Amino acid sequence: MAEQTKEYVLSSSQQIPVVASTDVVVIGAGPAGLTAAVSAARNGCSVTLLERYHHLGGMASGGMVLVLDDMVNEGNEIVTTGIVNEFVDRMVKQDGAVFPPREECLTNWDMWQKWSRWGCIDFHKTGMPQPIIHAVAFDPDAWKRVSLDLVVEAGVNLRLHSWFSEALVENGKVTGVICQTKLGRQAIRADMVIDATGDLDVASSAGASFINGQYIVTTVFRLMDVDTDKAEAYEYANPEAYKKLDREARRRIGGAWGMWWLKTPLPGVVWCNCPHMSGYDGLSPEDMLGAEIEGRERMMNLLHFARENIPGFENARMLGAAEQLGIRQTRLLKGEYVVTKKDVASRRHFADSVCRGRDYYTPYRALLPKGIDNLIVAGRHYSVDSDAQKLSREIPPCMSQGEAAGVAVALALNSNKALRDVDAKLIQKQMRAQGADPGDIPSANALVEDAISA
Ligand SMILES: Cc1cc2nc3c(=O)[nH]c(=O)nc-3n(C[C@H](O)[C@H](O)[C@H](O)COP(=O)(O)OP(=O)(O)OC[C@H]3O[C@@H](n4cnc5c(N)ncnc54)[C@H](O)[C@@H]3O)c2cc1C
Repeated sequence: MAEQTKEYVLSSSQQIPVVASTDVVVIGAGPAGLTAAVSAARNGCSVTLLERYHHLGGMASGGMVLVLDDMVNEGNEIVTTGIVNEFVDRMVKQDGAVFPPREECLTNWDMWQKWSRWGCIDFHKTGMPQPIIHAVAFDPDAWKRVSLDLVVEAGVNLRLHSWFSEALVENGKVTGVICQTKLGRQAIRADMVIDATGDLDVASSAGASFINGQYIVTTVFRLMDVDTDKAEAYEYANPEAYKKLDREARRRIGGAWGMWWLKTPLPGVVWCNCPHMSGYDGLSPEDMLGAEIEGRERMMNLLHFARENIPGFENARMLGAAEQLGIRQTRLLKGEYVVTKKDVASRRHFADSVCRGRDYYTPYRALLPKGIDNLIVAGRHYSVDSDAQKLSREIPPCMSQGEAAGVAVALALNSNKALRDVDAKLIQKQMRAQGADPGDIPSANALVEDAISA
């Protein structure tokens, strides 16, 4: 764990140039920030989008998290629509995404053999074969290209290489942000601020309440020159022998979900969403370095074993680890409402639901910090307890949160209202108009209790 410093220096105050004045500034261009920026811009706001790295996409591209899931409720009801669908359609057109056709979303061994190695399975269901569902395997560079197209087409003022460092707060209102660049510190003035950093950097800097969450971290990686047909044929023809090899592979990597390798849209390239490493704080530079070193040792250990032992992996080579360490959870907002594990597990419906994922609903209040105006959050750091976040942080629902946040800031600006006074019903209406499902209409399996409605 990170060492606590006992020595401090005072840095001198300086004049900081204002490089943009905008209706809305979005900080973080991951899945949530991208959709927030596009949604706000399409609703008529001038939008500046800040990102610390050279690419768009956050964990989806730089973190190489290459399957979109939590998109369907029971019965294959697709619940993450709107901008999520646009992303998928555009990636498909660029040969950058693969998913099963609806008629193949079934629970039988034939479909299992065809689709499970694409990650299109309902991993919440026990028992084999698990159902094949609508989930999307994609290529990280296709994600980056589509993101850039959407942001440019929407007229968003994009500023990459800009690391958020401080929120500007006056009389309880956030009025802009300061970021660090190669040219020194730069300020952006804004009427509305959307924190989509995933780590709650902006809201915590502005004084919002939060808890410190933590979960496993992962140096995701890809292998190339894998004969996936051969590997699958061996697995299905020799299930017991394969199981033994697989067990040893997973022991070498030291922590993986059910399948440690999945296919990608690039032939011969497999995605490895492992190893699972615990005890690392995703905010600490020392811990993140430690995880990079440990993760790389583990992945090479696995590669050597796979090359020597697993049919289909004889010529496998390391294509590379993700540019960004896979951080699942750090700071979580303690906002106007904190979503609990019970809410998620019981499929609790909220009257002010503005977006949803799988079978859970996100109330508008869970995007709003307490006591600070002009600030809204979207993404994995939303107001949720640590256990509930582990069940509700996948890419598509984070994108839907971003889309809803973009709508909310536009409604607030157009009506000259504080964000907390925006009527969630109006957000729901606009989300529907944009083709997104805000979760206003509970599905048949939702828990709807008048007494608990917002
Ligand atoms: C290893 C791993 C495996 C996962 N597996 C899956 C999966 O199979 N399917 C799935 O759907 N989801 C999966 N997830 C979850 C999912 O990837 C994340 O929850 C999701 O990407 C969150 O989106 P976000 O936009 O909230 O945050 P992020 O994706 O973290 O994006 C945050 C963005 O903000 C930027 N940023 C952060 N701080 C600053 C700053 N100070 N200044 C400027 N910019 C900043 C970052 O660079 C990044 O671009 C996985 C996550 C991990 C880590």
